[in-house]
Amino acid sequence: LKIANELEPPELIDLQNAMLSTLDGAGLRVSFPTPIPAADGSLTVEISDADATYIARLLSFVPGRPLDEVHAQTPGLETELGRLVASVDDALSSLEDPPPRGIVWDPRGAVGLIRAHLDAVGDTADRELVGRVLDSAERDVAPIAERLPIRLIHNDAHGDNVRVDPGSFDCPARITGLVDCGDAVETWAIAGLATACAYAGFDRPDPVQTFVNIARGYASVHQPGEAEANVLFSLIRLRLALSVTVSAVRAAQDPANSYLTTSAGGAWELLRVLDGTSDRLARYRLRSALGLDPVPGCGRVAAALSAASDVAGPLLEPDPRAVPTLMIDLSVGSGDDGGTFDPTDHTQFNRLIFDRMRDAGAEIGIGRYDEVRWWYTTDEFIAPGNEVDEWRSVHIGLDLFAPAGTPVRTPLAGRVVSVRNNDDRLDYGPTVVVEHELPAPNGDDPGAREPSTVRFRTLYGHLSGRTLEETAEGQDVQAGDIIAWLGAPPENGDWAPHLHFQIIVDPLDYVGTFPGVAAPSQRDVWLALSPDPNLLLSIPSETTAVRPRSMADVEAERNRRLGPSLSLSYRNHLHIVRGRGSRLYDVEGQPYLDCVNNVTHVGHAHPRLTEVARRQMGTLNTNTRYLHETILAYTDALTSRFPDPLSVCFLVCSGTEANELALRMARTHAGKTGAVVVDGAYHGNSSSVVNLSPYKFDGPGGKGVRPWVRVVPMPDPFRGLYRGDGTGEEDTPDDVPETLGARYAAHVGTALASLNGDDGMYGNAKPLGAAAFFCESLLSCGGQIPLPSGYLAEAVERVRNAEALYVADEVQVGFGRVGSHFWAFEEHGVVPDIVTLGKPIGNGHPLAAVVTTPEIAASFANGMEYFNTYGGNPVSCAIGLEVLRIIEDEGLQENALRVGAHLEAGLRDLMTRHDSIGDVRGRGLFLGIEFVGHRGRRDPDAGTASKTVERMRDRGVLLSTDGPDHNVIKIKPPMVFSVADAELVVEGLDDVLSEAWVGR
Ligand code: PMP
Repeated sequence: LKIANELEPPELIDLQNAMLSTLDGAGLRVSFPTPIPAADGSLTVEISDADATYIARLLSFVPGRPLDEVHAQTPGLETELGRLVASVDDALSSLEDPPPRGIVWDPRGAVGLIRAHLDAVGDTADRELVGRVLDSAERDVAPIAERLPIRLIHNDAHGDNVRVDPGSFDCPARITGLVDCGDAVETWAIAGLATACAYAGFDRPDPVQTFVNIARGYASVHQPGEAEANVLFSLIRLRLALSVTVSAVRAAQDPANSYLTTSAGGAWELLRVLDGTSDRLARYRLRSALGLDPVPGCGRVAAALSAASDVAGPLLEPDPRAVPTLMIDLSVGSGDDGGTFDPTDHTQFNRLIFDRMRDAGAEIGIGRYDEVRWWYTTDEFIAPGNEVDEWRSVHIGLDLFAPAGTPVRTPLAGRVVSVRNNDDRLDYGPTVVVEHELPAPNGDDPGAREPSTVRFRTLYGHLSGRTLEETAEGQDVQAGDIIAWLGAPPENGDWAPHLHFQIIVDPLDYVGTFPGVAAPSQRDVWLALSPDPNLLLSIPSETTAVRPRSMADVEAERNRRLGPSLSLSYRNHLHIVRGRGSRLYDVEGQPYLDCVNNVTHVGHAHPRLTEVARRQMGTLNTNTRYLHETILAYTDALTSRFPDPLSVCFLVCSGTEANELALRMARTHAGKTGAVVVDGAYHGNSSSVVNLSPYKFDGPGGKGVRPWVRVVPMPDPFRGLYRGDGTGEEDTPDDVPETLGARYAAHVGTALASLNGDDGMYGNAKPLGAAAFFCESLLSCGGQIPLPSGYLAEAVERVRNAEALYVADEVQVGFGRVGSHFWAFEEHGVVPDIVTLGKPIGNGHPLAAVVTTPEIAASFANGMEYFNTYGGNPVSCAIGLEVLRIIEDEGLQENALRVGAHLEAGLRDLMTRHDSIGDVRGRGLFLGIEFVGHRGRRDPDAGTASKTVERMRDRGVLLSTDGPDHNVIKIKPPMVFSVADAELVVEGLDDVLSEAWVGR
């Protein structure tokens, strides 16, 4: 029941009813309040009290909750909001001759109204801020106001009036309705979009991106014209200025009524943010979103540059058009850097580039335009985003590598507009900007509305200090004049000597500098602002990078070429082309923190390993049937890490092969066949070893347990049979944590006895016998579970009594990962008979090993030779040896202890805020987070675990789930993981677990 304000004229209430009925009949997929007629059929009734008569009406209820309340504003929802505004306003156009009304929210009167009431804004700085908004409206809107189309618009799609269904994780939030036609007015059609943008921009790190998303949705329904696109940003700011001024006036008149001023705080904040944003850049981004050329006139500049290329002077001495050049691929996935490359180390970068140029006989090296690079990683290269920050990775100039001191010439006549030293490290260093004017293509056309010339600038970066002294601002220059010299590091920003040359169609608000790289999401805008320099230069070489194939293309081909039993990670797949340290980079140069890859133990693409591999590859790679020192140096270094009597190595190529060989050895040595394994374990992918892996044989497509295998329960104190706190299925009253290990170990004894026939199961048949107990020293696929104390010691005693062998699978957890020890079994005071190693051992190179005692090795030598074509080859051994040295030299085991403790403490702290985390556990940099529906019941919550993984991936942190119920997030990053990396993970999880979908 809506009772109108007594001042509201009846014809406006009729208009609202008419609008609502129209919208109701417009077939839009959202709801509007619809007028419900009174008994006599009328849509309004009059009610009176002693003082006045009011108009009342009944409206239908609109489902959903106010957008502002549910914090569901995603890019998708923003786009939907734009579509809604356009469809509503389109539908309203069928209402003819709406009554004219004077309303404060009509933008046509806003400038005058604000000026008249600006005194109500008390603070001087605030008044000045609003003053600047008015100036820009007068400059940008007033001159073309006559050209702006007019229509009746709803004009009030803000977060209180837009109703949404907040959705769930798999079902994105959607708009369910729009209420309140009270501010509808016939005015500039584009103002409806401006109003929606203004309020949706509150509290966004990049509000312009929000405007872009909304505008994109709007344009998909209703295409605005050029003039409308050009004024949109000014109108957004004008609406905000109007809102704060009206609030200030109302607050002065009616201080008690807070409803009238609710949005003022957000509006002020947003006005301040937008005041610090380039309004021209915002306009270009909005034009692009509306499907128009981002930068008006950029096509004319490009055409003028092409036309001038015949007469352009040389850019460098020697002239890049006349001498041999070499294109150097600096894109993210390029191999041109030889793999040992650190672009911020200028000596190395220098050597790399200039060696290549010399070898190719080139005088100038070329770094391409529109190339995506991965190494702009200092803070100034971050573009803050609403969902995730983006790195500015797209190079929008052309790099020309030549020796320091090389003279730089201006190819065209012009005037030097700035000479400045941008002296932060990795900035441009000394930089010159020259302004030029060229005849416009078809500039002679007397009928053309466009000016007959085009103006643009050229930027020259990474120059020498001498340039600052010899070239002056304001100086007129002729084509071919020397204006600068290439600088040497560090004065040139600390890069290898090169010229960064860039065209600037609009300098925006930049003085003396201009961005040389752009965020991928704004690529089209920046490529329009800075067109291809080679239009002018005509260097006969590849100067523009080739765009990589689309993800969809690559994926389609992958599906054709690879077997479907191999899945891709994450619902939003990743196209990764480079790794470095603890980061992976996608084709767009965006980094991801790798928290999953315990294979790349010493970090992705460790330069020492690349170099060692390269050298050995170039020297010798063959099988192990010749004498060679490297295998000895390696096996010596490896076995010296083990307690006696583990001193003999077998080198193989995968963890699977290592376990396969361990099984054969144990069987040969023990003269028996059977094996005991822990539930949930994975030991490899071959026929025999799959049968040692309940993770596989009890999983989808698995064939169940074989007669020669016994499975013992996972010794899981959190959700296992025994927990020691009375909540375990088979807990007894005297269970305490100290006895758990022994109770679980008793199952190993039973399993061994059963294989050995002690339980009489085999009757008169010969028992298969127990050859081995396979156990990871910390359960990995089983759910990141540290073994309870005493478990291994007790189990191993039973293994020895049963005359079987204890095989420690250290494929996941070895090499210092647990921090306290180099091997995870060492924590338990046991010495295995056989240890299998894999994954981290070669940092990604296919190397694995079996380490055992001389006695077991001797009994395995029963006449059948063990030969492995690739195992132990010189390249593998050189790599394995270098991995061990790097772990030592870089103190990675200590790092795992220190950073792991920090990370674990941070994750534990999350438990105080997020009930869905049931347990945090692990050792060093091998941690697990177990998700439960209810902490008391400890029921597994795989959904929250996997959704958390997906949301973290969207934020640039790579995690994965494991455990028999898939409810454990595992963390096992490269060991170079830093405290800052750990904090990124904890902060990310904290945010993600606070999102609306959690627990729904
Ligand atoms: N053992 C364990 C504990 C493993 O996690 C794995 C691999 N995930 C293997 C063995 C098999 O190693 P690979 O994939 O190198 O054959």
